[in-house]
Amino acid sequence: MQPKDVPAGAPQRWDDPAPELETAARPNAAGMSRDQLRELVSALGEKPFRADQIFEGLYHHRWTQWSAFTQLSKDLRAKLVSSVDLQWPEIVESAVSSDGSAKHAFRMRDGRIVEGVHMPYEDRATLCLSSQVGCAMGCTFCATGKMGILRNLTAAEIAGQVIAMLNHHGHPPGTPVNLVFMGMGEPMHNLAHVMGAFDLLHDPLGLAIPPWRVTVSTSGLVTGIQRLGTFKPRPRLALSLNGTTDEHRSRIMPVNRVWNLDALAQALQAFPLEHDELITLEYVLLKGLTDSLEDGRRLAAFAKRFPSKINLIPFNPHEAGTSDGFEPPEELRIGQLSRLLSNQGLIVSVRRSRGQDIAGACGQLARKRSAENPAK
Ligand code: SF4
Repeated sequence: MQPKDVPAGAPQRWDDPAPELETAARPNAAGMSRDQLRELVSALGEKPFRADQIFEGLYHHRWTQWSAFTQLSKDLRAKLVSSVDLQWPEIVESAVSSDGSAKHAFRMRDGRIVEGVHMPYEDRATLCLSSQVGCAMGCTFCATGKMGILRNLTAAEIAGQVIAMLNHHGHPPGTPVNLVFMGMGEPMHNLAHVMGAFDLLHDPLGLAIPPWRVTVSTSGLVTGIQRLGTFKPRPRLALSLNGTTDEHRSRIMPVNRVWNLDALAQALQAFPLEHDELITLEYVLLKGLTDSLEDGRRLAAFAKRFPSKINLIPFNPHEAGTSDGFEPPEELRIGQLSRLLSNQGLIVSVRRSRGQDIAGACGQLARKRSAENPAK
């Protein structure tokens, strides 16, 4: 819920639930929970343990054809083939960077397009996921924000991005995977489905991704932060901060006109952290806008109000279409700010966005594909 005293001129729409996917007539097992699979097998006249076998095939082995489920009886497989789809989001376009990261456009069953990013590391893969088609938050630096909100993704569609990317890149079952909700959409505006996907993805019979490997990043939707804190287990929390004064932050992130920096800090102070858990602060450095030493001192003061770590993200000038006059910071200034923060006892790292040569802020590939093939 949005507070009653929303200031004049502030966006009103985050209180409204985002539109949902219209349910298709034929069931799709891809993305079903164990409970849903139990209902499915029961409707097919089968015993409940078959549901767990299907769940394991879907999420641990990541099989994409009913013919691969050889532990099931031939009879059950035939029933599944004739009456139940097994259709994950389809990768319809990819852009691969020289650093190995790949941005993918996924087509959902209703034709809507969203993006995900696969970043390979020596010992793991990190996947950046979308939570909505478009976004209601309207951050001025973001291509997705310019689309407005079209609909929520379902838990199945969110988990489906993970399965599709792991299969596409040929990761064997058991590969350590980190998930970050930093793609299209504000995950706190679709928390029910995000948590549904989280439950699917950390289930020990499936992908078994530990909760601490999942991070939900918010633009600052305080009611969502409060709700996330009530789940157990739950993902880790990150805040896309990007401004150290209300004046500046409200200009680029309209959500700040409703919940300002002080309201945000209070919500983060009240967030029930586990032992040793830290809240990540993402801070994009824009030359002349967010990279002054004064910004650094204000950032330090904000970060000290709760257990945190800071990611400084030098602006990526290749994000054509969203840069709107923004420039990357000087290398010297990045070093100065990093030292300023660590000298105050804060944990700080400088994150260079990967895939700079494949360009594109979050949302650009999807916007392009949507323009070419508008969803019905
Ligand atoms: S930055 Fe995130 S929250 Fe802001 S408009 Fe883009 S997708 Fe939405």
